[in-house]
Amino acid sequence: MNDVNEFRKSAHQIVDWMADYLDQIEKYPVKSQVKPGDILAQLPSSAPSNGEKFEDIFKDFEEIIMPGITHWQSPSFHAYFPGNSSFPSLLGEMLTSTLAAQCMIWETSPSAAELEERVLDWLRDAMGIPACFKGVIQDTASTATLSAILTAREMASNYEINNSGFSTNDYRIYCSEETHSSVEKAVKIAGFGRANLVKVKVDDQLRMDPNSLSKAIQEDLDAGKIPVCVVATIGTTGTCAIDPLDEIAKITSANNVWLHVDAAFAGTALLLEEYSWMIEGLEKADSFVFNPHKWMLTNFDCTAYYVKDEEALIRTFEVLPEYLKTKTRGLVNDYRDWGIPLGRRFRSLKLWFVIRSFGLEGIKDKLRGHIELARNFESNINASTDFEVLIPRTLNLVCFRFNPGGIQEKQLNELNHQLIEQLNASGEVYLTHTKINEKYALRLVIGQTNVESKHIEKALLLIQKTAKSIG
Ligand SMILES: *Cc1c(COP(=O)(O)O)cnc(C)c1O
Repeated sequence: MNDVNEFRKSAHQIVDWMADYLDQIEKYPVKSQVKPGDILAQLPSSAPSNGEKFEDIFKDFEEIIMPGITHWQSPSFHAYFPGNSSFPSLLGEMLTSTLAAQCMIWETSPSAAELEERVLDWLRDAMGIPACFKGVIQDTASTATLSAILTAREMASNYEINNSGFSTNDYRIYCSEETHSSVEKAVKIAGFGRANLVKVKVDDQLRMDPNSLSKAIQEDLDAGKIPVCVVATIGTTGTCAIDPLDEIAKITSANNVWLHVDAAFAGTALLLEEYSWMIEGLEKADSFVFNPHKWMLTNFDCTAYYVKDEEALIRTFEVLPEYLKTKTRGLVNDYRDWGIPLGRRFRSLKLWFVIRSFGLEGIKDKLRGHIELARNFESNINASTDFEVLIPRTLNLVCFRFNPGGIQEKQLNELNHQLIEQLNASGEVYLTHTKINEKYALRLVIGQTNVESKHIEKALLLIQKTAKSIG
């Protein structure tokens, strides 16, 4: 397909399909109902030798690919954390795809570099992140956390590991038992060895216990080890627990240890003044990450990574081959030095579209609406005799289980596992689970861009009916 008129025609057709899809998304089963291998079996085993017509490809997209899609933009998607999108985000993404620019350095698209700087400053100020932080967009929170851990490593070794490799394996990293798996992955990739990741105890609300952290660091120091980095979480993946940042930050400051704050999901809530307590002490931290691609109406991928000492970040990643030397170096931000990949997508464009279209107030209204729906759902569960909330709700996540009374713990776990399987098989809703002190908990997240009270009422009725049928 090389003809611009043909492209125009197909593109219009796709835009119509996009609008219809989003308009009628509730007619699809939320969670894809295919079995392993179903899609693969319908795909030819070798690539076509000759070009095929758009109509044929699009027909296969609808018939083969669509059944294997889980509909993250469905308002009945309550699983994991949301991976939101919105009309303005989609429009921005279409332009990014069209420009298809490689935004690795300022010269390869000055607008990309300068819009990224501006939009991340907007968000920083709107979220109450101290002005000493500078932002960069990365693909995922996993990559940002790896960047933080690598920078902490170089700071701790005076940039020697970059030059000559490890000369000791006494470095130590700390996180809580509830921390996201991306931290363990980063520790493996950064060469520390998983054995040097210390998982600090949590309290009854599954928040990191600062006393245990302090003790762990002291014991390591006494044993001649070198504490490098602590990762605190604002909104854990299991239950959205908020680690006590200020107390943790006092410990890391006193010991001169890098503090990275993972707010991948819950960070978006910092746009609401009433949640600013969550980052009390952030001025003492070194880096902070959150994902607009979760709750902030911006489609994947778009991670905002903030660092206080951008020189340390740049010094960790900078490599300067001849072909990347430019005369603007030092005057502008060359974001290739602010992270792992060289090539970079123009991601700030969709963020700019989202922020301008909704306005900060529009985004805040959405967030408050979601939290209000979660508050109501939680009170409904609390009021019901057959269900119980397993941990007090934070933001828009409710963790609960079916417990009609007189059933042993082990059986309750099995029963709730069955319940979630049946709910998801219905195609009407999609929920995932976690374990809270060995108790199997259903997680219901209310954060999809267009979710309304009618969707939550539907989910509640379905949960009650399904539980009755298996209980
Ligand atoms: C989702 C999540 C991550 C991982 O985010 P990616 O962008 O998919 O890498 C990390 N930490 C927390 C707390 C999360 O909720």
